Amino acid sequence: MKRAYLTIDDSPSADMRTKVDLLRAKEIPAVFFCRGDLLEQRPDDAIYAIKNGFIIGNHSYDHPRFSELSMEDCFEQVRRCDEIIDRLYQRAGVKRPVRWVRFPYGDKGGFAKMRLFQKFEGEGKRRKVELQEYVWSLGYSCPDLGVTYEHWRKLGLDQDIDWYWTYDVMEYMTFSAEPLFGITSLQKVLERMDEDHPEEWRGLNSGDSPEVILTHDHEQTAHMFGPIIEKLLSKGFTFTLPPFEEAK
Ligand SMILES: [Zn+2]
Repeated sequence: MKRAYLTIDDSPSADMRTKVDLLRAKEIPAVFFCRGDLLEQRPDDAIYAIKNGFIIGNHSYDHPRFSELSMEDCFEQVRRCDEIIDRLYQRAGVKRPVRWVRFPYGDKGGFAKMRLFQKFEGEGKRRKVELQEYVWSLGYSCPDLGVTYEHWRKLGLDQDIDWYWTYDVMEYMTFSAEPLFGITSLQKVLERMDEDHPEEWRGLNSGDSPEVILTHDHEQTAHMFGPIIEKLLSKGFTFTLPPFEEAK
C-alpha cells in the first residue's frame, strides 16, 4: 500500500474551512502551504486549521516567481510569510511544530524551468544554493519523504530543503485560458489520476514510492476537492505526515 502526503497550495481561500472539515472527517492529515498576503486577509481560517491539527507551511508572501527576483527579495518573501505564520500559531495558542516551505511554482530561484528541466548551472546554481541556505538558516527543513523515484533523485529533490511534489493534480488547468494536457474538466482531472507513467510524474498506480500530492485551495475549483479526495482514497493510499522532529 502506498503512502501519500497531501499538500494544499495557495491557501487560504474562502474554501479552506470546508477543506479542513472534510479532511478531518476522513482523518487525512495535510500541509497547507499558505501565502502571506492571503493569511493576512483570512487569519481566522488559518487558525482554524492550526487548531484542528493541520500544518501551515510557507508558500511566500505573494507568490512571485523567485527566479525573477533579486536574492534579497526572495529572502524577504520567505521571511515575511514566516513571521505571519509565527504570529498565527501564537494566536492559536499552539506551538509551531515545524517549518516547511514550498516555493511558488516550485521555482527554486535558479532560473531553471519546472520538473525535468531543473538543471541548475552557473549563476542559477549559486542562487539556488543561496536560497536553500537561507531557508535553512530560518529553521526550515524537509522531512525524509522517502520518495524512491529515479527522476526525483536525479533532480536532487531528495536533498533540497523545500518541498517539491511527485504528483500535481493540476485542477487549476480547468480555469486556465490555455489548459495543458487537455485538462479541461473535473472528469479529465480524475481520469489523469488513473494514468500510469511513473517516469512522467504520474505514478499514482505504480510501484511503492510514497507520493507527495499537490492540490490547490483555489475558489474556482473548490467543488472539485471532494471528488479529488474520494478518487485518491479509492486508490487505497495511506495518508500520513512524514516523520519530523518538533522544532525547538
Ligand atoms: Zn502556488
